[in-house]
Amino acid sequence: KSDSTYDYIVVGGGTSGLVVANRLSEQKHTTVLVIEAGGSVYNNPNVTDTFGYGKAFGTDIDWAYKTTDQEYAGGSPQIVRAGKALGGTSTINGLVYLRAQAAQIDAWEAVGNKGWNWKTLLPYFKKGEQLQDPTKYPVLDGSGVTFDPAYHGFTGPLKVGWPSTQLNDGLAQKLNVTYQNLDVPVQFNNDPNSGDMVGYSLYPKTLDYELNIREDAARAYYYPYQNRTNLHVWLNTHANKITWKDGHEATADGVEVTLSNGKTTVVKAAREVILAAGALKSPVLLELSGIGNPDVLSKYGIATKINLPTVGENLQDQMNNGLQFESKKSHDDNKSTDYVSYPSAAQLFPNSTALGADLLRKLPAYAAQVASANGNITKASDIYRFFKIQWDLIFKDGIPVAEILLSPSGNTYSSEYWGSVPFSRGSVHLSSADPTAAAIIDPKYFMLDFDFEAQVQAARFIRKVFSTEPLGDMAGAEIVPGLSTVPAGADDEDWADFIKGKYRSNFHPITTAAMLPKEIGGVVDTSLKVYGTSNVRVVDASVMPFQVCGHLQSTVYAVAERAADIIKGRL
Ligand code: FAD
Repeated sequence: KSDSTYDYIVVGGGTSGLVVANRLSEQKHTTVLVIEAGGSVYNNPNVTDTFGYGKAFGTDIDWAYKTTDQEYAGGSPQIVRAGKALGGTSTINGLVYLRAQAAQIDAWEAVGNKGWNWKTLLPYFKKGEQLQDPTKYPVLDGSGVTFDPAYHGFTGPLKVGWPSTQLNDGLAQKLNVTYQNLDVPVQFNNDPNSGDMVGYSLYPKTLDYELNIREDAARAYYYPYQNRTNLHVWLNTHANKITWKDGHEATADGVEVTLSNGKTTVVKAAREVILAAGALKSPVLLELSGIGNPDVLSKYGIATKINLPTVGENLQDQMNNGLQFESKKSHDDNKSTDYVSYPSAAQLFPNSTALGADLLRKLPAYAAQVASANGNITKASDIYRFFKIQWDLIFKDGIPVAEILLSPSGNTYSSEYWGSVPFSRGSVHLSSADPTAAAIIDPKYFMLDFDFEAQVQAARFIRKVFSTEPLGDMAGAEIVPGLSTVPAGADDEDWADFIKGKYRSNFHPITTAAMLPKEIGGVVDTSLKVYGTSNVRVVDASVMPFQVCGHLQSTVYAVAERAADIIKGRL
């Protein structure tokens, strides 16, 4: 293997990497190598089981990245999970297939990324998707499942749909009535993947309806194509850094890897090196390769090849909490109940207009605080610009400000939730020149009080939903946090211990190699090429400039589909 040369080397055989590898290897004379640190999980029941969420956590297919102690959230670290396997995080995620609000993707263009907007990304959402039309499955009749075919693809590699285990006992309809009975009603949304997410819906998942198993990136984009002679995958192989051609230009000529037998070697790339190692790894690989902030690199004796100080900056994640209630009726745990509501600011915050005005006044101070907490590497004036765009999305465009899931299980109802668009930003950086060393990951959860406010307000909203008929009559006492822990009518301070003590990462890290103009902190340009290099790209969740209100994978798949067309020279 050590003297092989490939046209393209894709680092990371995960969600985005396998899309790009598949599409590039459609060109028969183009050779593609995927380097993947994990192994195959094709037959791993912790992966395939559509009810298996969480079973893979803490096993050897979970990177289980640890953050620094979170100073704004009680001081404890968090675990941020990510898949270490062919298929990457798509092999351990929650299967949810929910995109973004159109205005959020349009904001990518508004911030300076020409050509990246909802209209240009929608064809790629559709290109990747194989929606399993629920109208063909009688078992889904009456389950409440709806969709608008105009927004879906039916022939792409990735199977998406509702499961054959979908609950069909009228609960979905009762929840809908409950949402309509709120003092500020949340309407039914026929298709939250249409670019308008606000409302209550039954969402689809990445699964194979017929086989009732998880559909992940490997099952969709690799295994059916594994006989292509121009597509190779090296499993259990760790990429250490990019290697460079001699000369002044930053042209990659390969990747240093440690093979499964422990031997370290270099594999050559004739055309490009494409990073797809995930938002907490790709920026670190750039740093190990000499691309980043010289102050950071020099600490570990790494010579700066390209001075690009925002590598690893602007890390954004969400915070996840959950409420739980007793149920008067016992539920069958082998039924799927994929119910989501996405309230806008006007629906979530009782005083939305005043809150918005107050937040607008605070934005310059927020931007200064974020910049200073991160060493002023991204300028406060640039962060202010990002924040103003985010403010407009929330208070003018009416994007969802929270996601609220509801699932019955046994004698309980659980409701996980999170504020969709926190303002806090942190960073991820290497901690050593050793490529296997853990990175320093600091999302700065809860740094800004709006993020906390959204989390508290979402909890209050859930309490309101559970006291509204007909759900109110079906549910019993609140179990978590329980009224003895957080009394009815509790103020923000009373909520703080629960919210900051019990939250977890929502596992949606992004923006650590942001697609943005270079002068405002970008790491990659609109062709996803790393500034200053002639042939290195990043195609994973790191490049998303703003958080999306849906879950990340659908947008990761779509970005990677579009990236492949860019690399092929079609865009
Ligand atoms: P990944 O898919 O993580 O791919 C990165 C790949 O690179 C991995 O295979 C990794 O092993 C490999 N790699 C890393 N470093 C190296 C190295 N040095 N050498 C070689 N290989 C390397 N999103 C949804 O849309 N719906 C959900 O329900 C959902 N639930 C989630 C639940 C959990 C527990 C988690 C962790 C995430 C969830 N997400 C969900 C988020 C979503 O799955 C991810 O954002 C997305 O899959 C990330 O894709 P990616 O291509 O950026 O990275």
